Amino acid sequence: MLKFENVSKVYDDGFQAVKSISFDIQEGEFLVLIGPSGSGKSTTMKMINKMEPHTSGTISINGKDINSYNPSELRKDIGYVIQQIGLFPHYTIEKNIGIVPQMKGWNDKEIKARVNELLELVGLDPEVYATRYPKELSGGQQQRVGIARALAANPDIILMDEPFSALDPLTREQLQAEVSALHKKLNKTFVFVTHDMDEALKMGDRIAIMKDGKLLQLDTPEKLLHEP
Ligand code: ADP
Ligand code: ADP
Repeated sequence: MLKFENVSKVYDDGFQAVKSISFDIQEGEFLVLIGPSGSGKSTTMKMINKMEPHTSGTISINGKDINSYNPSELRKDIGYVIQQIGLFPHYTIEKNIGIVPQMKGWNDKEIKARVNELLELVGLDPEVYATRYPKELSGGQQQRVGIARALAANPDIILMDEPFSALDPLTREQLQAEVSALHKKLNKTFVFVTHDMDEALKMGDRIAIMKDGKLLQLDTPEKLLHEP
């Protein structure tokens, strides 16, 4: 459902961050992008929602070239979770989660119901957390809100760029299990970036290994472990 064909990215300063990569992600698949810092993982993610337009090649979603999408429409149809969480500090939790549904024109009642449903889905009691502000939550709780926000408008694709790297090891392990469970439950397509091989092996249906802007290998954890 998400297809890259010979996709490259050259930044304005002439640096080529991604070099002719091709891959195909199935609907409902959990793909992990792994590689050292600077290997082009974030750039690959940003090209999917046109935060960074690709320079050449073709990216398509369900057979439709992303060049034919309006960038802000595309961003509303793709959930994005980043390491720095990026909640708006002056908005309550419910307002943070409701941003995209509101932009899509949902009414207040629909938004409220969706916010409550999502808070429950990520293990936060709406009665307690809906009206709090981000700084009143722990890092792990804030990242749960970040995940709820990315899911808010029911996107088909969820992008997660090192979502747990700022968390302590225990919280990180908990959230890994929770995101795997969410993936099973929702059956959405996930693309997840990490530089941690344990995390990749634990979470990925398939793992794409990037280095110096190139895609070196793309395979299941079993194959990567047993047929190096
Ligand atoms: P990763 O996510 O694997 O750490 P990135 O995709 O962030 O890698 O970056 C890949 C390469 O592109 C790095 O060398 C980085 O310095 C460079 N890069 C990233 N963003 C820009 C930019 N806006 N302008 C120029 N070069 C950039
Ligand atoms: P527009 O271009 O229509 O004003 P944007 O797509 O720029 O809207 O989004 C505005 C803000 O809403 C962004 O800064 C981002 O934090 C948040 N946002 C937008 N789309 C999503 C999404 N799918 N998941 C999570 N947050 C989003």
